Amino acid sequence: MSQVKAKYAFFNGKIVPIEEAKISVMTHAFNYGTGVFGGMRGYWNDDEEQLFVFRPHEHFERLKHSAAFLRINIPYSIEELTAILTELLRTEGYRENCYARPIAYKSSEMIGVRLSDIEDAFTIFAIPFGSYVADEEGTHVHFSAWRRIDDNAIPARGKITGAYANSALIKADALLAGYDEALVLNNDGHVSEASAANVFIVRKGVLYTPPVQSNVLEGIVRRSMMVIAREELGLEVVERDIDRTEVYMADEVFLCGTGVQMVAVTRVEHRPIGSGQIGPITRDLRRLFFDIVTGRVAKYRHWLSPVYAKEKVNA
Ligand code: PMP
Repeated sequence: MSQVKAKYAFFNGKIVPIEEAKISVMTHAFNYGTGVFGGMRGYWNDDEEQLFVFRPHEHFERLKHSAAFLRINIPYSIEELTAILTELLRTEGYRENCYARPIAYKSSEMIGVRLSDIEDAFTIFAIPFGSYVADEEGTHVHFSAWRRIDDNAIPARGKITGAYANSALIKADALLAGYDEALVLNNDGHVSEASAANVFIVRKGVLYTPPVQSNVLEGIVRRSMMVIAREELGLEVVERDIDRTEVYMADEVFLCGTGVQMVAVTRVEHRPIGSGQIGPITRDLRRLFFDIVTGRVAKYRHWLSPVYAKEKVNA
């Protein structure tokens, strides 16, 4: 995973050098996890010399919902947020794939666990970003011993910073046990998602994914993948509870999300999935996904927001 530092951040209402974008150890969100965040990717298209941000409208819409839930005010419209992100990416001058991280948080420097009468702040930074998973065509996962946080504790759909201690435990234990990722069960014992990605299984040509009521983040790639599978591959896609043993018996399994993008799961613990190699549906969806996010499919250009203003002019 890339650890290159950003050079700039949007902080306190303007773009500043990253060294100036600092918070205090007394910041409420640092102490209590009272922040909400997003993560979106920019994809560089070399032929068009253009950077495309994937579905910023949907990402900022979700961020605003998450923020409202934690009583954090983001003083910008979705259009203004997209414009701020665009300006930040232009300032960085990225001509490569990158990842943007907006965070809205409780910024008062104080002790006291609550959400009211506390100041809010908003920041964004963006870094160059490649693959998140070492082998995108052959990921090896296990079922985590941790359970997914419940909607009645900290809602997963909220993308709340403090809730990611749950994801960190899940991911850390998977890595330390020698796996690349983990699948997590709900308290009712059904499959929810991975540490930071949604999951799909394929059984007899039908795609299944856990419904949004199963303590999953309402993933924007998940939503996109359902459209692509239906419209481009003519597949049936069903949202329903998934049992653990269905994963073992699936023909194909894949994870999707902004960070992981679209990765084939080929082994769960000691069990190969299907043939133990990436399957045909996962392969087709992967190819379509990368064509779409890099702007190569006209039908889905409306999912992309170009960063650089120029329409290339042939001199
Ligand atoms: N689930 C969790 C817990 C996540 O953190 C993410 C990454 N944002 C996802 C699913 C995938 O969501 P998206 O497709 O919107 O990135």
